[in-house]
Amino acid sequence: MRALKWSVLIAAILLVIGVAALTFYIVPQQDAKMNVVIDHAPYVISEDAQAFHDTLTVADLHSDSLLWARSLANRNDRGHVDIPRLVEGNVKLQVFSAVTKSPRGLNFDENDGQGADDISLLAKVQFWPPRSWSSIYERAAYQAERLIKLEDNGNLVIARDAQSFKSAMAGDKLVALLLTEGAHPLEGKIENIERLYDKGYRIMGLQHFFDNELGGSMHGKSKSGLTPFGRDAVIEMRRMGIIIDVAHSSEAVVRDVLAMSDTPLIISHGGVRSACPATANRNLPDELLLEITGRGGIIGIGYFDGVICDISPGGIADAVIYAVDILGADAVALGSDFDGTVTTTLDTSELAAITQALMQKGMERRVITKVMGGNAVRFFSENLGK
Ligand SMILES: [Zn+2]
Repeated sequence: MRALKWSVLIAAILLVIGVAALTFYIVPQQDAKMNVVIDHAPYVISEDAQAFHDTLTVADLHSDSLLWARSLANRNDRGHVDIPRLVEGNVKLQVFSAVTKSPRGLNFDENDGQGADDISLLAKVQFWPPRSWSSIYERAAYQAERLIKLEDNGNLVIARDAQSFKSAMAGDKLVALLLTEGAHPLEGKIENIERLYDKGYRIMGLQHFFDNELGGSMHGKSKSGLTPFGRDAVIEMRRMGIIIDVAHSSEAVVRDVLAMSDTPLIISHGGVRSACPATANRNLPDELLLEITGRGGIIGIGYFDGVICDISPGGIADAVIYAVDILGADAVALGSDFDGTVTTTLDTSELAAITQALMQKGMERRVITKVMGGNAVRFFSENLGK
């Protein structure tokens, strides 16, 4: 009896040590290792550039910050985004994306969705609710609940339709929109579109790094177009006024979606293929981008290797300028992919460095106003449902 008591006590102590090690050491260390800001001296921002940056309505189309076990209400010394740093960077609108499945050995060329899934592991070691350990839908639901908690605590406002978007943009709080990174949280069921809508999702990516029930990923095996289920899902998303993100979709999927209707699309984080041919397996070809933007779509330019060739603030500015030259001043926005296991040269508190680089490279202030956020705000004002 006594031996049994001891073994229960030892097991309990080991459990506490294990939970503490995960919470305070292993998980934070992994977060810091995966969402890197390269060490740099503080960027020197001129008074003029800072003053101009402070007048801008800054918007970012893609951040995966809901994935990580850090309080977004407080300033952190790791990762790219939290609310104090968004405020410091003068960001008014942040799209928060929910990553729900990520194949081990992720690459841009060819992934299989059947093998080990790192988000399943992350859900367990970060003590997400057990319902999310095996259900992809529940992982999206849980990440929305994290954002809703921030809203309930008065940290931000989640826009749910065009009207609430406009009034939130006129208010003094950070405005947030929810995006699913790929539509695999549907788990093959059309009715889950409405359940995710009810959780607050107003933008849905169709694919992430692997082919799913809706069709081929740019980084999947098949590179195929929409499946019959994918077509039904696109029709249902449009019926509900959900904006479609084709950031990781195969070219065939993008063509199929474009053939279905003229409703504008977004690419929440990406780049222009001809700007940097090394990014061919991550960025859509220019002619497809032109079709998207020609119908009122926008592209968020990412800050990481794979979508642009030079990730310095000056390199990001070059990528933005190139995109404006090819696609027009109304089609280009920011799409950081912050906290999306990317390495960057700045976090969100340092966005004035991009504004300054655009100014130094001669972009007109009128155009800087658009790319730093004006285009994104216009797009959502016009395309969020009623
Ligand atoms: Zn992504």
